[in-house]
Amino acid sequence: MAKKQTAQPQNLPSEDEAKFVEDLADKDDFSAWYHDIVRKAELADDSPVRGCMVIRPYGYALWEAVQRGLDMRIKATGHENLYMPLFIPMSFFEREAEHVEGFAPELAVVTVGGNEKLTEPLAVRPTSEAIFGHFYAKWVQSYRDLPLLYNQWANVVRWEKRTRPFLRTSEFLWQEGHTAHRTEEDAEQETLKILHEVYADFVEKELAIPLLRGQKSDSERFAGALRTYCIEAMMGDGKALQAGTSHNLGQNFAKAFNIQFLDEDGQRKLVWTTSWGASSRLIGALIMTHGDQYGLRLPPKVAPIQVVVVPIWRKEAERVIVQEAVDSLLQELTAAGVRAKSDWREQTPGYKFNDWEMRGVPIRLEIGPKDIEKNQVIMARRDNRAKAGIARETVLSELNRTLEEIQQNLFNQALDFRKSRTYQAANFTELSEKFADREKLGFVETWWCGSADCEAEIKAKLQATIRCLPFEKSVKAKSGTCVYCGKPADKWAIFAKAY
Ligand SMILES: [Zn+2]
Repeated sequence: MAKKQTAQPQNLPSEDEAKFVEDLADKDDFSAWYHDIVRKAELADDSPVRGCMVIRPYGYALWEAVQRGLDMRIKATGHENLYMPLFIPMSFFEREAEHVEGFAPELAVVTVGGNEKLTEPLAVRPTSEAIFGHFYAKWVQSYRDLPLLYNQWANVVRWEKRTRPFLRTSEFLWQEGHTAHRTEEDAEQETLKILHEVYADFVEKELAIPLLRGQKSDSERFAGALRTYCIEAMMGDGKALQAGTSHNLGQNFAKAFNIQFLDEDGQRKLVWTTSWGASSRLIGALIMTHGDQYGLRLPPKVAPIQVVVVPIWRKEAERVIVQEAVDSLLQELTAAGVRAKSDWREQTPGYKFNDWEMRGVPIRLEIGPKDIEKNQVIMARRDNRAKAGIARETVLSELNRTLEEIQQNLFNQALDFRKSRTYQAANFTELSEKFADREKLGFVETWWCGSADCEAEIKAKLQATIRCLPFEKSVKAKSGTCVYCGKPADKWAIFAKAY
């Protein structure tokens, strides 16, 4: 393929290089840094409607990687995908009291269609328990019909006042699973299976984000649920991000929608339902867990491009031999299943290096005439920015080994960071101190008596909430004294400021 000729300097003038990086806000200004990455890595753009977002191709490729990883696990655990309508009659929505109360402030409601006032207003789904409930009542007759294990990939709308791309937007993409079971035990088992085998497995193994798993306190529980379980991750500024939730809905929705079945013993009984969701905010989690002062750092397993090859040449004669070497290398990598591409844009190599670093591509290969002479390529890792020459014939094996190493390294770094920012507090004074220093913000583990008042007081005074009551406690004791009221307490809780 003919390329337009341009002489390329081997090294980018240091001024340009400095400017590109300088342009990225300092990571200490975490919010500005986050928005800069979203913009400069071309993940998303603002929409003309406030609070919505345009997901650009590179951001959408990340979402597709999230979809693939979750969908595979959702199906492997016995679920099927289906699709429910975007609009839900308001009357459906109003049947579960706690549910409508919880969601009413965020509802978008359609009252006019085709120039006519609708006889019944339609809610744009903020979540789909109501419509699933309606159909489950129709689809379930006998115990033989159970369980129903369904999932849908969809967009939902929650009218948010304060929004931030990927983390909190009025419209977002997600999957929502909805299941119906014969017994309470079956529903509970399902709720936990999703948390561990689908969400935690994907987020830790593929997104390389270490998690805490646990149960939500009542005030943080899903509106209409009996129990909510969650995975929580620590972001680069020490704040918590809820990365996925799984709800045991008990019989609340079964009662509201009259979902009954005839059991083996001839009795009509209500089913037990669950719902669970993970959303495009996982992309925000990726940015905020792994990003650094040079931009994104993507775990190889979900990186849309795992390896980028940057050709280096000055003269036309050089370009021809470099192109040959790059083409044969790309062919080898692609055939081996590595997601690789070459960058022949008319920019300087230095510009390209910075650009791919900003986009978080795990490995960059550089090939120039001198490397071809030495039968080598230069490999630069994004995670630690180490650079070394490797023999041409070992490139594939070196790449595979290094991609695995980067995946593990990103996870380890995030885990070390979380450990270094996890504290304990014996009383409210200590708790307050832990949240006083913005530079050292993190998770605080402590005893809580279970009172919603203590929880609310702490939230009001410190803007910190209980992220979860972890399944695995870091203390041996079974009880202690409440961090707020000092009364006997048997709940070990993780407090944090949260997104
Ligand atoms: Zn208390």
